[in-house]
Amino acid sequence: MEARLAGTDASTSSPERAPGGVVADYVMAPGTPWAGPVTRGHVLRLIAVEGQQVGDFVCFNLRRPDEKFSPPNTAILNKTVRLTIGHTLYSDEASAMFTIVADSVGLHDVLAGACSKYTNKLRYGVGDSANCRDNLASVLEPYGIGWKDVPYAFNIFMNVPIGADNSVKIEEPISRAGDYIDLRAEMDCLVAISNCPQVLNACNAYRLKPLRVIVYEPAEGSGGRGDHPRRIHAPGLPGT
Ligand SMILES: [Zn+2]
Repeated sequence: MEARLAGTDASTSSPERAPGGVVADYVMAPGTPWAGPVTRGHVLRLIAVEGQQVGDFVCFNLRRPDEKFSPPNTAILNKTVRLTIGHTLYSDEASAMFTIVADSVGLHDVLAGACSKYTNKLRYGVGDSANCRDNLASVLEPYGIGWKDVPYAFNIFMNVPIGADNSVKIEEPISRAGDYIDLRAEMDCLVAISNCPQVLNACNAYRLKPLRVIVYEPAEGSGGRGDHPRRIHAPGLPGT
């Protein structure tokens, strides 16, 4: 944790002050989902309002929702499972969907999928339980997208370290209050995010918190890289 750097000058990088025209601004209550369109060139900012809260992010081609986010394509085409600034989210047809243009954390997950009532039952023996896959399906249903068609997610702020023995585990997020990530749409997309309701493991540090989503049109010439930090806090990444 000590390796985290202080953010850039707060006077120019307040996460609530998007560098451009705000298209949508929504606070996701703990455990709840959100869905909405994001036009090509616009930027979706997800803010960890209190820190240590994961948002499961999926996206679809807005014009043709049978094209959707692909975690394996994204990992293999970026040649890493550690996605941060400069990396691209790819579809199942290998189209660029979003590019990460700002990231104050540098630690997210593309392996863990999304929690479901099935995995909760298998792992924790619980019956019907709040979960990200049902959350995502509930906000995608009005768009004609069914549960089985919801792709596995890019898990923003989720901490899933890979051990030297290739083990994986879920640990508490390292994000702090006000940390955020900016994703610039490379095509017109439909986005859904589940503010993860998981309390049975360390995913959200055992307490559910709000997330805030802001969609903005970047100011002229900013290229979606406005006055916010481009360096990241997490240790262990090349170039940090
Ligand atoms: Zn979840």
